[in-house]
Amino acid sequence: MEEKKTVLIVEDERAIVEILKFNLMREGYNTLEALDGEAGLNLAQTADPDLILLDVMLPKMNGFEICSRLREGGFAMPIIMLTAREEEADKVFGLESGADDYMTKPFSMRELMARVKANIRRRSFDLGARASAGVLVEACGIVIDPATFSVSKDGESVDLTQKEYDLLLYLIKERGKVFTREDLMQKVWNYDYFGDMRTVDVTVRRLREKIEADPGKPERIMTKRGVGYYFAP
Ligand code: CA
Repeated sequence: MEEKKTVLIVEDERAIVEILKFNLMREGYNTLEALDGEAGLNLAQTADPDLILLDVMLPKMNGFEICSRLREGGFAMPIIMLTAREEEADKVFGLESGADDYMTKPFSMRELMARVKANIRRRSFDLGARASAGVLVEACGIVIDPATFSVSKDGESVDLTQKEYDLLLYLIKERGKVFTREDLMQKVWNYDYFGDMRTVDVTVRRLREKIEADPGKPERIMTKRGVGYYFAP
């Protein structure tokens, strides 16, 4: 039997925690909860959940800071930000701080559950690839070891988040082929619907900052103007 996945809910509104918990448990997940930012960060570090639903406005420490600290500490689990505000700047800021995705409140529970599933499925799929270990993926000085999720650039190890890793692996495996943002949203994020394409752009930018010598003049992850992205052939 497949092991149950654990989702950590960091949210200070108890009513939202309860409804998230109810829905997640019904979908077969274990849940952990924290009602303030500090407790959330602690629990994320000690319990190492499979995914985090992270509210932005929280007592003691906000969601952006929790996200940044987890990424700085090398935690790569998928993080979905729950933002109460509509401002675009917030969404982008959330992605910049290392979140994989965001949803604006009030959100559709069905859509949120679909995103939780998509993010966790991707990870499980990669973990399944451990069995076929030993095959390194290499291109332009980048080496990926899917058995250990480790990535290096010119021999130096690079820390990537889950989605940065997924995106890089996908582009390298299909190197030279140009993908639209919609393609990438579907293949890497596993979304069947039309998501926010900025998620793709921000993830590409973050990835470039980590793997390009000059992120302003990329030589690995290339832009095909008006079309999308590809890994240098
Ligand atoms: Ca809140």
